[in-house]
Formats: sequence, structure tokens, C-alpha cells
Amino acid sequence: MEVGLQSAVPTYAGGLGILAGDTLRAAADTGIPMVGISLLSRKGYFRQQIDNSGWQTESPINWPINDYLQLQEPRISVDIDDRKVLVRTWRYDIQGIDGSVVPVFLLDTNLEANNEYDKSLTDYLYGGDDEYRLCQEIILGIGGVRILRALGYDDINRYHMNEGHSSLLIFELMEELIAKDGSAQATEKHLSIIRQQCVFTTHTPVAAGHDRFSFELACRLLKKCNTFRDMGKSMCCNNDLNLTYLALDASHYINGVAKRHREITKRMFIGYDIDSITNGVHATTWACNELQALFDQYIPDWRRDNASLRYAISLPRDKIWQAHNQAKLKLVEYVNKICNSGMDMNIFTIGFARRATQYKRTTLIFNDIQRLIDITANIGPIQLIFSGKAHPKDQDGKELIQQVYHIQDTLNENIKTAYIPDYDMDIGKLMTSGSDLWLNTPLPPMEASGTSGMKAAVNGVPSLSVLDGWWIEGCIEGVTGWAIGKANQSYDKDGPETEETKSLYNKLEHEIMPLYYLRRDEYITVMQHAIALNASFFNTERMLNQYITKAYFR
Ligand SMILES: *Cc1c(COP(=O)(O)O)cnc(C)c1O
Repeated sequence: MEVGLQSAVPTYAGGLGILAGDTLRAAADTGIPMVGISLLSRKGYFRQQIDNSGWQTESPINWPINDYLQLQEPRISVDIDDRKVLVRTWRYDIQGIDGSVVPVFLLDTNLEANNEYDKSLTDYLYGGDDEYRLCQEIILGIGGVRILRALGYDDINRYHMNEGHSSLLIFELMEELIAKDGSAQATEKHLSIIRQQCVFTTHTPVAAGHDRFSFELACRLLKKCNTFRDMGKSMCCNNDLNLTYLALDASHYINGVAKRHREITKRMFIGYDIDSITNGVHATTWACNELQALFDQYIPDWRRDNASLRYAISLPRDKIWQAHNQAKLKLVEYVNKICNSGMDMNIFTIGFARRATQYKRTTLIFNDIQRLIDITANIGPIQLIFSGKAHPKDQDGKELIQQVYHIQDTLNENIKTAYIPDYDMDIGKLMTSGSDLWLNTPLPPMEASGTSGMKAAVNGVPSLSVLDGWWIEGCIEGVTGWAIGKANQSYDKDGPETEETKSLYNKLEHEIMPLYYLRRDEYITVMQHAIALNASFFNTERMLNQYITKAYFR
């Protein structure tokens, strides 16, 4: 549904899209023959403004499509309700390190032959109502397969669905199969052939990530789809068309995106064989220029062989510090320019960039402001830099942004805060490389993996995070970073949040800030370990290799 290609191409909303982009970038580097399919998102997700009261407002992004994409010849159509919707596609090439190309095809319905509504179907990412979304997913899944055929991709071995958004592709593969063998209708036998070709990755335990549509809506929009007519009922749950279950039923390999997420997913979808492949990030995309230069000098193989980042253990520490501070200077200058926040290079700086939504608990670090003020009086000042968008319909998320926006009024000169508007890939890179510490406070077990902490690790920036998602695997206490609270705690009462807040403050006061301000050498050792132990593993090169052995060639 989304793919993070570059900041100026606003076809992504967050982690799911960035991961898709990083996966494709890794495939291009490795020379794995892969193509990506997504929607054009002509108006983007949205541009975020934060007004003087701290309230998020949204506007469409009008981006110069022609500057980044090439229009392709073929056109196909998909049936939606009683209409034939015409679809064309644009191409974006991802260049690998040795010149291999992974093309990404972005589907577009803005064609004269379509009515006004259909023209708008590839405008907004995650916009509109249920009907708009199901139309988009028909275009993505069914249209996606048809466009591939029209482009000449006839012998694809594996279809990898990221979330259920694209799982209607299963219906189209079934249609093809039925047409080929001349059967009267779709059967379990056809499905078992399709299953061999399909791989499904689920990315979140959050309900909103799993698309469900009423059976009436599905029957109306998919009335021309024979497979849905024949098998739809048996593939649906509780009278819904549930795209997650469709993907689960039609895939021979299913995985969650971290070990813990596998356990959570198994409990959500009883009876399915679910594995895990822990996410990664594309190391060369996310390492800042200064560290790239350092790695090139001391670990020349790192771009082709991310595992060799383990040799960061022998990088000269003063050079790591120097590179980090160059990245930090860029961040500080940016935030001072954009937010006029008067931040200082020499002050301990915490970064937090997440979708603004309740379970991410953006404001957890402000639960006890007096304690925070006391810590800075005892140890030294703090700067806190935030960023992240709330979904336009997420009022609670917008309130979190507003709270952070106004928090400065309750603090003193020892604590400076800023909220950078319109979070995107460039800001993400600036923040994960320029912060001294990367903070993450989701409510477990909601964070399936999380990837921004991995970007920080590539940049030698340690995490302070709740033990959820990837951090359960990545955290070696005091070595690669620090944990907030304990693993596998139950969090449904009032108590634990207080426990977590205490833990957060204790770690800052007694472990992290004393290292930063008083025992700098030890702080740099943690930075070094973040690269050597975590960047060497939590990258998409390793991740893609696991997909290859566990999913694509099985
Ligand atoms: C990395 C990234 C994300 C995802 O970060 P998480 O830690 O997984 O929430 C979202 N948006 C942008 C712009 C990013 O760069």
C-alpha cells in the first residue's frame, strides 16, 4: 500500500512503507530479481502543519510526479462494482550498489476515461472511507497482477504481501489459474497451487492495520470477481471480508517482524504456522555521510557485507565522536532554523520520532516533570527533539502533539524541547544520526518491531526503549543501550506505567547522563557497540537473506 522511495516522493506514511523501500533497496544491492508494486498516491499521505496552538492541520501534497517517475505504456482495467476502471503505471528505478535495478511500479487511475471518483482512487494514502479503501485495494491487488502481466512479467515465482492490503492479488491469481485449466470454478485445489507462490508478512498487532470490509460492500465492489463469488464466503470471517485472513489462508509462509511479534501474532491468529524474520534497515540509506566516510575508510566491505560492521569495534573512538558531532550539528542547526528553539551542540540531546498515536506514548517522558527538572539540576541539561504525524482522524494523536508543543511552558531553562513538523525520511535520518540518545516508549506489545532505533544504531546512537519489538533482541543493557522497565510485564493496570516512568528517569539519572557528561569514553563505547552488535545484524541485507532461504525458495 505504501513504499518509502525518497522524501520527495510522498508514497509512504511510516514504518511499513520505509521497510518496503529498504527491502527493495537491499534486493537491488544483492541483485535479487524483484519488482515492487504500490499506488501512486498523487496527493501523498499529507503535509503536516502545526499551528500556533500546537494543533496539526493537513494539506494535500502536490508533487512533481514527472520529475521522479516515468510513465509506462501499458494500461489495464479492473472491475469495481459495475464499472471498468482504467489503470496505468509509473516506474521508479532503485539502483543497486553494483548497478542492478529493482523497478517499482506505482498504479494510477487519473485517466480521462474514468469518472471523477475513480480518478481520485490513487490520490490519497490511507484517506477516505471503507469504500475508497476497498477500491484502492482492488486496484493494488488485482490491478497490480494485471499490470505486471501487461509489462511482461509472466513467470513470477513468489508474491510477497506486506500486510493484507494487497491480498486481493490472490483472487486474480486464482482467476488466471481457472482460465488456464478451464475449470468452472475456483476450488481448494487451485488455492493450494496459489499458496505455493504466496508469502505473507504481518506487521502490526494494531487492529487498524488489518483491513476488514462488510460482506455487503465486498459483494458489491467485487461482483465481477468469480473467485470471490465461489470462495469469498469460506475465506471470510464473521461475515467480513478480512484481508489478513485471506493472506493467511493463501500463503505457504507467514511471518511476524520480530521474535516477540511472532508470539503475539500466533495468539491473534490461532491455527496458522507463523514464523518470524526480524526487520532491518538499509544501512547505506540510513548511515549519515560522516559515518559512511568513516566506515569506508576502516571497514571497506561494509556496503556489500553489512555483517562486517561488527568490526566497528575497532574504529578509533575519537573519530566516531567527531563524525557523530558533525551529524549532531546538522540536526541542531536544522531544529534551530525550523523551530527557533535555541538548542546547543554541547547539550545531551534525546530524539523521539514516531507516529503520534496513543500507544506510542509520546509524552511518557513528561509524566513527572519535577523529577525531570531535578535530574537536569543534578547531572546536566537536556534537549528533546520530537517529530511525527498523527493520522488525520486520530484526535488523541493530535492532542499528544499539542501537549508536547506546549510542554516548554512547564519546564525551565535546563530542558529545551522542539517539535519538528512534517516528519519524512530526511528528517528521520537527521534525527536518528544527530541525537545522542534514541527514545522509544510504546505500550507493549503493540510495537511489532520498530525500525527507527535500528537507524539510530547504524549511526552509533544508542536506544533507551521499552522492551518491545526489536529491542527485546537488540538490547544488551549498558552495552548497546538501555531498557525501560522489564520484559514481558503486564501493562493493563495503572501501576506499570508509573514503574516504567521511574525506570526511565532512573536510567537517565544514574546511568546514561553521567556517562554522557562525566565518563564520555564509556558513552562512546556504547555507541561503538550499537554499531558493531546491532547495525551488523538489524539490516535489510540480513533480513532479505532470511526471506530468501525461509520464504522465497521454499
Ligand atoms: C523509520 C521511519 C519510520 C518508522 O519508524 P518506527 O521506529 O518503526 O516507528 C516512520 N517514518 C519515517 C519517516 C521513518 O524514517
